Amino acid sequence: MRCSHCGTDAGRARTPLCAGCRKITEAQAQEAVRQLFTGVGGVVNNLSQGHRPGGRRHATTRQTKGLGDLWVQFPGRGLALWWETKRPGNEEGQTLEQIQFQRRNEACGVPSGCGGVPEAIAMLRRLGFTILR
Ligand SMILES: [Zn+2]
Repeated sequence: MRCSHCGTDAGRARTPLCAGCRKITEAQAQEAVRQLFTGVGGVVNNLSQGHRPGGRRHATTRQTKGLGDLWVQFPGRGLALWWETKRPGNEEGQTLEQIQFQRRNEACGVPSGCGGVPEAIAMLRRLGFTILR
């Protein structure tokens, strides 16, 4: 089976992820996505919240629930997009508020996506970027 994240042979793994991709944290996935967007001329504004709601170190916020992690601007292209980072295997792990936020963005003509590097590459291609990999 091929790893759904990096495409390498995942051997006989029961999950669609190889052993390496199963260990990727959301913070690592976000850094990889940030580098991808930056590498094609994006300015990455980070709105992600540092601590999990309900956690001991949960930071209070007045932000509307469901906002994406990253607001990425491409001034040279006249476009911007919202991005919600998910680690490999958790691409479907959006909350209801995140799904609704994404739908509202798309209804407003604002690109809005979620996932890791493979999903971010698909989004950039959809927006007309040429991604060679
Ligand atoms: Zn992999």
